Formats: sequence, structure tokens, C-alpha cells
Amino acid sequence: MIDLDAQATTPLAPEALAAMRPFLEGRHWNPHSAHRGGRMARAALEAARVEVAALLGADPAGLVFTSGATEANNLALKGLLAEAEGPRRRLVTFATEHSCVLEAARHLARLGVPVCILPVRADGMPDLAAFRAALGPDVALVSAMAVNNEVGSIWPVSEMAAMAHAAGALFHCDAAQAFGKIDCRLDGALGGADMVSLSAHKMHGPKGVGALWVRPGLALAPLLDGGGQERVRSGTQAPALVAGFGAAARLAMGGREAREAHVRALMRVALDLLAAVPHRVNGPDPLGPGRWPGNLSVTFPGVDAGRIIAALPGIALASGAACSSGAGRPSHVLAALGVPAADARATLRLGWHACTPEADVRTGVGQLVATVRRLSARAA
Ligand SMILES: *Cc1c(COP(=O)(O)O)cnc(C)c1O
Repeated sequence: MIDLDAQATTPLAPEALAAMRPFLEGRHWNPHSAHRGGRMARAALEAARVEVAALLGADPAGLVFTSGATEANNLALKGLLAEAEGPRRRLVTFATEHSCVLEAARHLARLGVPVCILPVRADGMPDLAAFRAALGPDVALVSAMAVNNEVGSIWPVSEMAAMAHAAGALFHCDAAQAFGKIDCRLDGALGGADMVSLSAHKMHGPKGVGALWVRPGLALAPLLDGGGQERVRSGTQAPALVAGFGAAARLAMGGREAREAHVRALMRVALDLLAAVPHRVNGPDPLGPGRWPGNLSVTFPGVDAGRIIAALPGIALASGAACSSGAGRPSHVLAALGVPAADARATLRLGWHACTPEADVRTGVGQLVATVRRLSARAA
């Protein structure tokens, strides 16, 4: 299949597979075991912790390996707020966050935690004046994404973290779509974040592993009680998955500009081809600084996205609806940008990454354009 669904996941890098192999093929040891085998697994885990933390420019001691960014986001929000007491315990987050953040926020609201979900601008960027106004003295935590998984918007995380801190609140960043793509250093674009969620499979690592980086000294309540293998996260660690994550982070350390230039070139190719049919791009300017150029959310007015996807079984595509058939609920992100439900049902999310061949974008988007033309001729 031609893969134009790079926001859903990315293929495993061969280097990540090679790093995982020994732990799948014989080194089966539990990193918690005290014997030599356990110590060997533990050493691999700690080496990966250093590699992932290095890409973040963070203290490795703050990194908690989890099953992915969903768990990391749940741990950040619930771990900080579910048992919080006193006048400062409000969560402020945004309507375009990933469903795992919004559902965790709803869970907290059911527990009685005050929650504020702020709207966003029509271009998918935050309204910083409204954000500042929401930062009252009862706000304990702000949660905001670095790069949006549906519309690619890149948010000014360090500026927002500084605003949260000025109001006495902590700042959590879901960097699942940003890590390995944009600068994610804690002394750079993610500066000031107190917690950061990461996912390996969005950056050519394996599925089923991620991490929450927690500023040392910040106390969280665990989601799972147990042996405390990852301090606030219990359960036997997965050396193979963690080693694969570490290898993916090592690969992402160098060459960021070259990877971004390739992804940006693919965006130009896609936009050139799409110019042949009526369409509208959702979110920030696709070639501007406010958007990750590997994401293109595009509406073909009057053309059902589910039918486009059904007509192109050889291309991996995502629709603007909650399920890939296009029949599901329109995406909450598009709704938050003010995209009418009918347009959301005519929306596809195209995505490519640093290893996507240009020929895949040419062929895939070329076939997409032909299909849109054919379906809109039939509709007319
Ligand atoms: C994929 C994704 C998640 C969930 O990550 P998993 O590791 O798959 O649980 C959370 N947030 C964003 C922005 C994502 O893109």
C-alpha cells in the first residue's frame, strides 16, 4: 500500500528493529531481576532512557516509560489532579487536543476536578489572549499539544508554558507528533514544560511504548499500583520495545533539517497536484512556520471522504471522521476549527514522513485527484 497516513503511525526503522531483536530472540530477562541476565536487560533499558532523554535535552531520571502517549497523557493529567486538594486544582486544556487528553479531562471532571476546555482559532492556533484570561489562581495544570495530529498546527509551547508558570500553574505538553520532527528540547521549543508525553511509533519506533518525562521533584499519583518498576508506573518493562524507542530517538538526533526539507518538498508536490481539483486546506498555511509540513488536512467540498477511501484501497488514507469509513462522528478537531459537519465528512488527512518516497506522494495524490474528479462529476 501507498502510505499517506503518517500521523496514524510510522514504519519501524531497520535500526530500531535491530536494537529490539536480541530482547525478542533470547535475552528474555526481566530488567527487575537481580541476576546477571536481569542486569543486562536493565542496562539496555537505561541506555535507551539516556537516548530518549537526550533528544529532549532532559534529565533521564525524569523519564518514565509507558505503553505509549495515551498512557503518558493519562498519567500526567490524572496523576497530578485526581487526588489534588485545595483551591488550586483546575485543568485548562484545548478543544483540539487528542481524545486521550480530552477523555482524561472528562474523567477528572466527573471526579469533581474543575476543567476548562478552551476553544481555538479557525486556523487551529491557540487564542493566547483567551488563554491568558483563563489562567486564574485556581489553575493547577495546563495541557497543550506541540504539533496537532489532525491539522499539523505547531503551537508556541515555550511561550504558553511561560504564561502558565507566570500564573502559578504547571504545564504538560503532548509531544507525540512533535518528537523527532520539530525541535523538542526542553531548553528550546518545549522550554519550560513540566511534563512531556512521547510515543515511539510516531517516530519510527515500535508500537506499544512511549514515555512521560516528569520534571524531577514533581510528584504524581500512579495509575497502576504495583512493583514501581518505573517509579510511578508499575508493570514489567518491555526491554525490546524500549530499546527500539531508544534507537529511534538516536536516529532522530541528527539531520533534522534534511528530514524536514524532504517532508516540505513532498508538501509542495502534493499541493501542486491538488491544485487540479477544488479543495480547501484546514489549519495553518501548509508551507508556513505554523504547520508541520508532513500533514495536510484537505476538504473536497461535496465529495464524501468515505467514498474516496473506498475507491482507493491501495492507499492508506485517514478521513476527517472518527472512523475510517467516513460514517462516524465528524472529527472534534475539525469541529473546533469551525468546519461544518458536512465538510468534515468531505475531509481527508494526508500525511507523509521523512522516509516517504516522492513517487508515493505523486502516485497517491495523483490517484486521489483523479478519484475526486470522478466522484464530483458523478455528484454534479
Ligand atoms: C498518537 C497520538 C497519541 C497516542 O499515542 P499512542 O502512543 O498511540 O497511545 C497521543 N497524542 C497525539 C498527538 C498522538 O498523535
